[in-house]
Amino acid sequence: MSDSNNLCPICGEGHLQPQVGKNPVEYKGQTTELEFYFSICDACGSEQSDAAQLRANKRAMVAFKKQVDGLLSGAEVRALREKLGLSQADAAKVFGGGPVAFCKYESDDVAQSEAMDKLLRLAAEIPAAFEVLAQRMDAAPVVSPVDWEEVRGWSVEVDISAESSTKRPQLRVVSSSTSMDKPRWRNIAA
Ligand SMILES: [Zn+2]
Repeated sequence: MSDSNNLCPICGEGHLQPQVGKNPVEYKGQTTELEFYFSICDACGSEQSDAAQLRANKRAMVAFKKQVDGLLSGAEVRALREKLGLSQADAAKVFGGGPVAFCKYESDDVAQSEAMDKLLRLAAEIPAAFEVLAQRMDAAPVVSPVDWEEVRGWSVEVDISAESSTKRPQLRVVSSSTSMDKPRWRNIAA
């Protein structure tokens, strides 16, 4: 956790002694105590954290925030990815986030977005959803004419049945292949 010689960079005489303290933190009204890594110089008494200690402290905070936000922990993301049989690089191709995204999620360097979290859970729970995502990874380039034809084949339809006329309109996604004989959009006022 420290330089090889542990020499204090401030006084240049003492040596840094690694310490582990408790750091009370608060996030969205929830509090906890996180381990806090730092070093104390045995000569000048200055407290400092090196790069590795700072990284450990930051990861502990990110992990706590994930817990409060109800997101998958880094270990859970790793377990989920391995269950799906993906390398970190392939997971980024399937789910997005950039080439080093999963390395960062799994080490608690960054928190995945709520959208990414839901996508991961969906893929883990519904094999067919994962297959669709994995197939899209194999289709290169990502935005091809074929892809856009598929996108055009789907539309959002407002469903106003007599029974639900007093309720909020129900939006549902329909495939044009099953609604060719119907107008794609129905007038809400009709
Ligand atoms: Zn010192």
